[in-house]
Amino acid sequence: MGVSDEDLHQEVKARLGRIDQLYTRGRQALVEALVGAGTPLTLPALLEQAPDLTQSSAYRNLSMMEQAGVVRRLVHGNDHAHYELAEGLTGHHHHLICRGCGAIRDVTLDRQLERSLDVAFARIALDAGFRQATHDIDVYGICGNCAAD
Ligand SMILES: [Zn+2]
Ligand SMILES: [Zn+2]
Repeated sequence: MGVSDEDLHQEVKARLGRIDQLYTRGRQALVEALVGAGTPLTLPALLEQAPDLTQSSAYRNLSMMEQAGVVRRLVHGNDHAHYELAEGLTGHHHHLICRGCGAIRDVTLDRQLERSLDVAFARIALDAGFRQATHDIDVYGICGNCAAD
C-alpha cells in the first residue's frame, strides 16, 4: 500500500492542490522529516529534523497539511501531539503507546489478522446501520525506557 518517494511527493502535491495550497519548500521539509523518521514525531522532534523551520511556520504548515489529508495528528491524553503521514500515503498500521512517557511506535499486523478484524468490525458496524467501516486501534503499555526507571 505504501508508495515510492517520488509518487509520495506527487500525491502530497495533488492533495494540497485540491485545497488550493502549494507544496512549498517548508512543507517538503516536513514531509521529508516524517518519511525519514518512519514513526510519529512531536513538533519539537520534527523541528530537530527540519531545523530551517520556525516553530510557528511548522505548526501552520502541519495544520494545513492535516486539512489536505497529508498529515495526521495523533493526540493521546495530555501528551504532546504527534504527527505522521496519513495512512493513505504510508499504509494501514496501529500504534503502540507508552503510558509513562507518551512515546508512540508504529506496529503492523499480518494481513490475515487485519482481514479478520475488518470482517468482524464490518459485521458489527453493519448491524448498527453503519457502512464503510474502518478501524483505528491503539495499544497501550509501558515502554522499555520507562520500565527501566
Ligand atoms: Zn515510555
Ligand atoms: Zn488494522
